[in-house]
Amino acid sequence: MEDCLFCRIVKGEIPSAKVYEDEFVLAFRDIAPAAPVHVLVIPKKHIESVAALTDDDTELLGKIFAAIRAVAGQEGLENGFRLVANTGKDGGQSVKHLHFHILGKKTFGENFG
Ligand code: 5GP
Ligand code: ZN
Repeated sequence: MEDCLFCRIVKGEIPSAKVYEDEFVLAFRDIAPAAPVHVLVIPKKHIESVAALTDDDTELLGKIFAAIRAVAGQEGLENGFRLVANTGKDGGQSVKHLHFHILGKKTFGENFG
């Protein structure tokens, strides 16, 4: 996916502030943070969205969630955080490469508005 922004970040063609990396997963700070801690966790492999996941991605999802827990620990989010995966047009997804937003150090309400 040559024109995919997050694939280009994975390849290092576009710089990012990395906070976690392993063989399969990358996490970096959102360029327009919506909370004091705003990290995006992505698979290095291009997957368009949650809706495009398949049964073959089960193990990868485990690695993504392990990375999410690692980032939450590193960033001191023991009071909790909001985890968001905007999916498709109605979900407000702007970058078509699966990503989970970790939003922390901000207290969110119980409603989604
Ligand atoms: P979405 O709206 O697709 O769920 O989230 C995409 C996120 O990517 C947005 O929060 C946006 O600020 C972030 N973003 C867009 N371009 C870049 C970039 O070049 N670098 C980084 N670090 N984040 C980006
Ligand atoms: Zn991609």
